[in-house]
Amino acid sequence: MSEAIERPASGAPPWEYASAPESTDIVRLDDRYGLFIGGEFVEPKSGKWFATISPSTEETLAEVAEADVTDVALAVDAARDAAPAWRGLAPAERAKYVFRIARQLQERAREFAVLESMNGGKPIKESRDVDIPLAAAHFFYYAGWADKLEYAFPGRGTPEPVGVAGQIIPWNFPLLMAAWKLAPALAAGNTAVLKPAETTPLTALLLAEVIQEAELPPGVVNIVTGAGETGAALVDAQVDKIAFTGSTEVGKIIRRSTAGSGKRLTLELGGKAANIVFEDAPIDQAVEGVINGIFFNQGHVCCAGSRLLVQEPVFDALLGKLKDRLQTLRVGDPLDKNTDVGAINSRAQLEKIEELVESGVGEGAEIYQPECLLPERGFWFRPTLFTGVSQSHRIAREEIFGPVLSILTFRTVDEAVEKANNTPYGLSAGIWTEKGSRILHMAQRLRAGVVWANTFNRFDPASPFGGYKESGFGREGGLHGLEPYLTFDGGAP
Ligand code: NAP
Ligand code: MG
Repeated sequence: MSEAIERPASGAPPWEYASAPESTDIVRLDDRYGLFIGGEFVEPKSGKWFATISPSTEETLAEVAEADVTDVALAVDAARDAAPAWRGLAPAERAKYVFRIARQLQERAREFAVLESMNGGKPIKESRDVDIPLAAAHFFYYAGWADKLEYAFPGRGTPEPVGVAGQIIPWNFPLLMAAWKLAPALAAGNTAVLKPAETTPLTALLLAEVIQEAELPPGVVNIVTGAGETGAALVDAQVDKIAFTGSTEVGKIIRRSTAGSGKRLTLELGGKAANIVFEDAPIDQAVEGVINGIFFNQGHVCCAGSRLLVQEPVFDALLGKLKDRLQTLRVGDPLDKNTDVGAINSRAQLEKIEELVESGVGEGAEIYQPECLLPERGFWFRPTLFTGVSQSHRIAREEIFGPVLSILTFRTVDEAVEKANNTPYGLSAGIWTEKGSRILHMAQRLRAGVVWANTFNRFDPASPFGGYKESGFGREGGLHGLEPYLTFDGGAP
């Protein structure tokens, strides 16, 4: 292995992978999907439907109902009607249903993974190895708590469910976000109305089938598809709690409209995480972590490591290795098992990324993109690095939510802390160093809900996740993730 790999002058890799497409035969799509209310798929009272497409081919996959205020109210009524029996069920019985959902997700994992990649554009290796197994793990984890709630919060009194939860989720991890929302709510004895994102409703609707198969009592889970207006209708409906994951902009609107209503609220919003590489870091490991941190799921990740902070002595070495690694990323068909970077989720998101990248060039940062052939149809964006970025640039401040990394440098530990915290967000951060004491020192100073050390984008159902500042409030995952769905001794949160 002593000889350097020879690359063709174009910069393309020395050899190519044969295509290895995953078959879509396992997915059976209906032409149309109604709303899942009271345990049944029903026609929308709105009479409206919209097409959901594949972002990699722009083909229509199915038509989906658009829920209006009346439809949302019917879903909330169904959840309300189902609430007394569900909360009254012996906790161990409730757990059985949640376990069943987990097992069915495992049983049908391949089908879910293929559908997730078709509807959302993410690489099949990610939906297969990350999204679907983690979604199942969340149901398993919270099922285990259902009959142990009184021991989970000692000294807090008797835990009771909050009631009906309205849950609104984004398009970047469609099934996983549904699991993060539904699993703790159900385990804690709540009923729910879930609103998937407009562009990615299909795995949530497949989950509705699983919920039917698991024989959950009708109305315990209801799923209303639609766009932002459907979400707004759910926020205004007679629910006891809103759990929202999405943009800071919409989070602020929801905060305003729930203020004074007595509705409980948790918000999981955007981020602009610093991934900080010190000069003593294991550099090849750091390169992989930086690549994973920003190019996983096309960078459509709220906790993505989108700002790389590099200590000056290793800047040149790290940048060289990052550029080399970028050349080897395979961009294209999400259903190809070799694909590293799939399709951008929607045309609107692609335009947002393009606009921000243009601003980076306009403000004077230096752009680097590997050569790669992009498919003709669909929404694509090349993996992108920016150097010469200053803290005032928009690409250093705003969430791009795409495969774009802004690289800055620092000299001292204090400067790294200062730059990392110089953001309105506070969701996650990464530290790369050999020194354990430096990890602890940094972790205490970084204003971020999650701090990873010598790794990035690691998730576990037992570990709480959530933000500071404009990244929102409330935690999902772990025991912390149960609390927003419980009241203690008749009302205290
Ligand atoms: P978004 O526009 O805020 O949408 C999130 C969800 O809210 C979608 O279901 C959306 O419906 C719905 N919605 C839109 N307007 C609404 C309104 N006025 N009232 C109620 N609901 C409304 O965000 P997005 O573009 O889908 O997702 C990207 C953003 O989510 C990024 O900023 C990212 O950082 C953030 N995110 C955060 C986390 C986290 O855990 N903190 C996780 C994932 C994503 P439509 O689909 O029709 O827009
Ligand atoms: Mg939106």
